[in-house]
Amino acid sequence: MQDQVSQVASTNEVCPRCGNPLGEITTTKSGKQMQRCSTGSWNPETKKVEGCPFVKWLETPPQQLDEKCPKCGSPLLLVTTRFDKRLKRCSTNKWDPETRTSSGCDFVEWLKGTSENLDEDCPTCGNKLILYTAASGKKLKKCSTNKWDPATREASGCPYVQWIN
Ligand SMILES: [Zn+2]
Ligand SMILES: [Zn+2]
Ligand SMILES: [Zn+2]
Repeated sequence: MQDQVSQVASTNEVCPRCGNPLGEITTTKSGKQMQRCSTGSWNPETKKVEGCPFVKWLETPPQQLDEKCPKCGSPLLLVTTRFDKRLKRCSTNKWDPETRTSSGCDFVEWLKGTSENLDEDCPTCGNKLILYTAASGKKLKKCSTNKWDPATREASGCPYVQWIN
């Protein structure tokens, strides 16, 4: 048995702005991980960062799912991108940054939002509302007459939207 001195120091990284060590890794409400400069802190009262404003966002590690790839039968991974999009991809798929090509199984499924009809009337026009859950987990209520036209990139119908939480 070795006598290990394991002070689990979070990381030994220093802030590129001020040279002080970075603080502990924290997880935000949306499930993303970030590391703030140890000399900076968030003041919820003033809604401002006090001290050094440096923040490092960490890539969310892929999560192994209890689902099998429909193409090859290997386990699927749930990946969260930096832009808050989620996708499932095959665990055998590997990206090679040197050749800029991927190898392995190429199965990818982007997760899309879901919508649900509500028994609530729109306060603007009186039509029914829809509860929309985005792939990132954010929820909003919107008017059922509101439609997004991907061709013209314009929304039509009643513009009522209410974000939840
Ligand atoms: Zn700093
Ligand atoms: Zn596969
Ligand atoms: Zn409406």
